Amino acid sequence: MSLLPLDDALDRIKAAVPTIRGEEQVVLNTALGRILAETVRSPIDVPAYTNSAMDGYAVRSDDLSSEGTVALRVTGTSSAGHPFAGEVRKGETVRIMTGAVLPQGADTVVMQEQVERDGDLAHIGTGHRPGQHVRHAGEDLARGQTVLEPGRRLTPADLGSLASLGVGEIRVKRRLRVAFFSTGDELRSPGEPLGEGEIYDSNRYMLHALLTRLGVDLIDMGVIRDQREAIEQAFHDAAAIADTVITSGGASVGEADYVSETLARLGQVDFWKIAIKPGKPLAFGKVNDALFFGLPGNPVSAVVTFYQIVQPALLQQMGATGITPLRLHATCTTDLKKRPGRTEFQRGILQQDEQGQLTVASSGHQGSHILSSMSRANCFIVLPADNAGVRAGELVEVQPFAGLV
Ligand code: AMP
Ligand code: MG
Repeated sequence: MSLLPLDDALDRIKAAVPTIRGEEQVVLNTALGRILAETVRSPIDVPAYTNSAMDGYAVRSDDLSSEGTVALRVTGTSSAGHPFAGEVRKGETVRIMTGAVLPQGADTVVMQEQVERDGDLAHIGTGHRPGQHVRHAGEDLARGQTVLEPGRRLTPADLGSLASLGVGEIRVKRRLRVAFFSTGDELRSPGEPLGEGEIYDSNRYMLHALLTRLGVDLIDMGVIRDQREAIEQAFHDAAAIADTVITSGGASVGEADYVSETLARLGQVDFWKIAIKPGKPLAFGKVNDALFFGLPGNPVSAVVTFYQIVQPALLQQMGATGITPLRLHATCTTDLKKRPGRTEFQRGILQQDEQGQLTVASSGHQGSHILSSMSRANCFIVLPADNAGVRAGELVEVQPFAGLV
């Protein structure tokens, strides 16, 4: 069976994944990471008034001289929240603090370090530019200007900028509901004793964490035994409550038979062999009305397919736009083994050398069951399909986990 190139798999998923419809109104303090569902336009000018960028003196620029020092009479103070009520007239100046309203008549601010104060006189020398150190009303955002567009995944700075407009509530997409379970008779949960031939279920804990970071509502359905009825019931229950169902394991030949049989009855699912390593087998389709992703059982394969394939699909389903994971170039300091054919996501440790250049080293044993080298890593080293191995010193492309959402 020929392998499906990764980009083709992503294109097919992109074409098949609908965006959920529901929206809700939330206050800013609960909006971090939510997907904006409206266009936000500024209801005010930001800054709302012309103000000073420095602590200093507000002056009329035509009072300053390019030849020598001038003496201006200080008639008051404008500080943040306490504007000066009067006007700066010819020959006068007002002491002003950062962020305070620029008083009538003034158009320029002179830094306090460049002013010599003598009683109520301020002596100001040469070298000033008319209009300096003044922030103009509306220079950040003009009233009516688009601030944020739908599809934006809200960041702390977005929330700050919404607050700066006086916007306290916004419309966001409702949370995506994702149900997930592990399959396998050999799986036990932490806290239970391990019998002969049994292992602890790690995938469910990774999925829990990966999904938590995406900000979805998650439904952890536990471990489902390798039995036809149990699997069928689990799919049925999951599809009834979730927008998306994610499973791991069950891809080996004997198991896949009744997993695929169940899925064939409940929905339409394609089993793909994707040209990536690790993570070749992936099931994608629908179970009743829910979207379905069947991840490989091996933990490293599960996490790689999640990041590279499932996460972009979930973001699309959530209504997020414009989220492209960061990729960088780094000098590889270790040899990397690879055979041409599949895109590989090896696990690496990215750092800076003494010259500030990015370097990356393999995080160790690259087997798809070796979770410790995944856990030590802070990035994927992305090796294109035709790559036939890397020698220490060569440039490679890396994808830092921190930039992966
Ligand atoms: P399977 O696709 O079910 O044949 O699983 C492939 C490999 O992954 C087997 O070695 C399983 O024991 C292992 N595996 C499956 N599910 C999990 C899981 N939830 N946690 C850890 N290992 C798993
Ligand atoms: Mg299994």
